[in-house]
Amino acid sequence: MCGTDLQLLRGSAPFTGIPGHEFVGTVIDAPRADSRWIGRRVVGEINIGCGRCEWCRNRIKEHCPNRTVVGIRGRPGAFAERLALPAANLHEVPAEVDDEAAVFAEPVAAACRILEQVEVSADRTVAVIGDGRLGLLIAQVLMTTGATVVVHGRHEWKLRIARALGLEAYADAAAPAARHDIVVEATGRGEGLNRALELVKPRGTIVLKTTCDGDSSWTGWKAVVDEVRLIGSRCGPFAPALALLQSGAVKTKPLVTGWFSLADHQAAFDAARSGLKVLLDPHLE
Ligand SMILES: [Zn+2]
Ligand SMILES: [Zn+2]
Repeated sequence: MCGTDLQLLRGSAPFTGIPGHEFVGTVIDAPRADSRWIGRRVVGEINIGCGRCEWCRNRIKEHCPNRTVVGIRGRPGAFAERLALPAANLHEVPAEVDDEAAVFAEPVAAACRILEQVEVSADRTVAVIGDGRLGLLIAQVLMTTGATVVVHGRHEWKLRIARALGLEAYADAAAPAARHDIVVEATGRGEGLNRALELVKPRGTIVLKTTCDGDSSWTGWKAVVDEVRLIGSRCGPFAPALALLQSGAVKTKPLVTGWFSLADHQAAFDAARSGLKVLLDPHLE
């Protein structure tokens, strides 16, 4: 589960039903036209478009105004034994990627979205603010470009995990006073944007990953004076995400801080508030 699930639980969006949108499973049934999927181990893209609108015609189902989203908007999610999804959303999981890693395909895809939006190259410096589950995935994905990546966080134990993953990581207050070409905001808090504006170079780029509910006041004039580019960033491509999990360039094992049964969902949500990645296994008793 991720921060979005915790926000939905707080009532930040008008969703009722089964949450959960990061999953791995085996296809047990399909219409005849898609029967080749039966028995395959898969992950799935979570947006389902109407298929008729301007966005869908351009293959951008993420912005279809009539879309449903698994476990987030108008469609039952993955905290269940079974889940239905159009075959077009499925991606087979390579044998080298075990179930525990495959569950990360969706958030790693969201991290890969940044590479579609911003040119990140070896001569760039990047700061990722946020040492949570998404921040540590984003930092690993950006490292694969050869760019210099530093993580700014608030929790010493999460920063230790970041360092064990080979990342340069600092408590935000103790970080070197450098400004960066690109700053990725993944704090999960509205104030993160103000910190990003302090850390970005003039004419630099801020990528916003926090889908935070509630108000946040931000010092927008700084973005004007420094001519900063602000880029919102949400769902991303699964194929490169699975490739990064397969090659081991993105490591997920240190991020898993708990496994729970569906019956223990309350304990799982509690653990997810303070921990990193918490997983639900419908097969656990
Ligand atoms: Zn998520
Ligand atoms: Zn549509």
